[in-house]
Amino acid sequence: MSRRRQVYEGKAKILYEGPEPGTLIQYFKDDATAFNAQKKGTINGKGVINNRISEYVFTRLAHIGIPTHFIRRLNMREQLVRQVEIIPIEVIVRNVAAGSLTKRLGIEEGEPLPHTLIEYCYKDDALGDPFVSEEEIACFNWASHEEMQDISSMAIRINDFMSGMFAAIGIRLVDFKLEFGRIWDQDFSRTILADEISPDGCRLWDMVTGEKLDKDRFRRDLGGEQEAYQEVARRLGLLQDDNGPGEVFDLSAHRGRLRTPAKPKK
Ligand code: UDP
Repeated sequence: MSRRRQVYEGKAKILYEGPEPGTLIQYFKDDATAFNAQKKGTINGKGVINNRISEYVFTRLAHIGIPTHFIRRLNMREQLVRQVEIIPIEVIVRNVAAGSLTKRLGIEEGEPLPHTLIEYCYKDDALGDPFVSEEEIACFNWASHEEMQDISSMAIRINDFMSGMFAAIGIRLVDFKLEFGRIWDQDFSRTILADEISPDGCRLWDMVTGEKLDKDRFRRDLGGEQEAYQEVARRLGLLQDDNGPGEVFDLSAHRGRLRTPAKPKK
């Protein structure tokens, strides 16, 4: 049996050469990292859940006309995607103050923002993905003016769509990260959504209880990471034992499910 060639290994995913030119296989690991990989751990089953959630979100985004790298899911942990040249910018979209914004500007966590904020970080682990301005992005040629226009307008549409999608299942979309890539057709390139959308790169809060259903459970040692990721998948109708995306939620039935006490620290 021929072994697939590994193209890249990141913190949460591995990329292998795909079956046809211009394709890759994206494999979702259970590894979790935080604080620029200073904190490392494993969330059992995370790769399987993120693969499903990301497939679902990318498919729904494609239905509203967002071009994405997603082709199809291959199995529990892998999906076939288009190979792109990654634009080295992390696009952060925020609706509510949390995370680095609260630290940087002293704004209280949970404060709704008067309007959606889009921020950019330069993708460079050695530098700790620093915050960059659009002027710096243009100056160092990381993305063209046209690409930045495409990226910001897609980010707003994605945010509008995802905010509604999560609100419908009782989840507040606080903030999230997107990555985009270029696909080339001779001398012309097109900007498409790449990477993944999952609770690893989103802040998702239960609308009623405020409970965190995302990677902050791992970052802050809150415990119950696996249950939280599963809860997001379940509400999206992606687990086998539920009735599908149209399900109406009785939130009271789920209260307490995530109250798993954090493991005692050694
Ligand atoms: N985020 C991410 N990868 C990163 C940085 C941020 O997925 O390298 C996501 C993070 O999960 C959150 C949003 O982007 O949903 C905003 O993150 P923030 O800038 O607050 O950074 P953090 O608090 O993670 O340092």
